[in-house]
Amino acid sequence: MPAPLSVENIRDAPKVLLHDHLDGGLRPATVVELADAIGYTALPTRDPEELAGWFLGAAHSGSLVRYLETFGHTVAVMQTPEALARVAAECAEDLAADGVVYAEVRFAPELHVEQGLDLDQVVEAVLEGFRIGTARAATAGRSIRIGCLLTAMRHAARSREIAELAVRYRDVGVVGFDIAGAEKGFPPTRHLDAFEYVRQQNAHVTIHAGEAFGLPSIWEAIQWCGADRLGHGVRIVDDITVASDGTAKLGLLAAYVRDTRIPLEMCPTSNVHTGAAPSLAEHPIGLLTKLRFRVTVNTDNRLMSGCSMTSEMAALVDTFGYGWDDLQWFTVNAMKSAFIGFDERLALITDVIKPRYAELGGH
Ligand SMILES: [Zn+2]
Repeated sequence: MPAPLSVENIRDAPKVLLHDHLDGGLRPATVVELADAIGYTALPTRDPEELAGWFLGAAHSGSLVRYLETFGHTVAVMQTPEALARVAAECAEDLAADGVVYAEVRFAPELHVEQGLDLDQVVEAVLEGFRIGTARAATAGRSIRIGCLLTAMRHAARSREIAELAVRYRDVGVVGFDIAGAEKGFPPTRHLDAFEYVRQQNAHVTIHAGEAFGLPSIWEAIQWCGADRLGHGVRIVDDITVASDGTAKLGLLAAYVRDTRIPLEMCPTSNVHTGAAPSLAEHPIGLLTKLRFRVTVNTDNRLMSGCSMTSEMAALVDTFGYGWDDLQWFTVNAMKSAFIGFDERLALITDVIKPRYAELGGH
């Protein structure tokens, strides 16, 4: 007998997260405490519960630009080694408590140098925080492995530096390079130099593309910049035509993405909040899953979207009627697509993920 698809059981199931922003996942109470500690007075409220509601409301505004503004507050309180380490440690603990067994958490070092830290100090503080949080989770009986992705901001000009930073820290916890920020007007090809460097170093790249902006952004990310994975990639559906009898015809780009198994880091709730999808029911994840693209499920920004891996999975179960086999498929897809080595991915799939889903699915 399969276990009921309750929120508790979904939380208990091993999950893999590839797209989660460190500055989008702070505990509301931590935002308030860190703000108080540095005399930051621009928060809309000092009440953690009200603050959580405020972030969610801003996320719901339907504008990616407005949504990105909320990060002004979280980034403002993440400017010292202590604050960065605390946020990273709590991130590891929160993900582990949510049943995440492997996560790649990303952040943009260049956003955390306002108080005089250099890029290396930022990365070292975050890595130290993840070590602390992972150890605390282990003490609490939860095993989690965390890899970092270093993000460069697409409107800025530091991508080559960040790419070099990602390669420099590859053996101590950084697993890849990413670019993020407003897509429109800032195509990934502005940063070709950085992508070429990362690829020449045999390192990994994921690119935010096809979230608010269409196919050209996805095409550039893959065919010019060599992205191993796509952050969101929602707009790939613009290259798919579904006939009235339900048969789907893939354009050349969509076929390329599916044929070469390029992972899509889909973030359903976040996409609804930013207006990239009209509702969860109409989110392209339904079609892309049916067509067997390499779909993965992610949180994006847990604070702004008021979500977790468990709530995302539970919402998909409610909306699309997915069962344990589907949740395992998303999880194995994500584990296969991770930027750690093949042997480590395989070990997590065969020793942790599959045995537990077999129990839950009653196989
Ligand atoms: Zn993102």
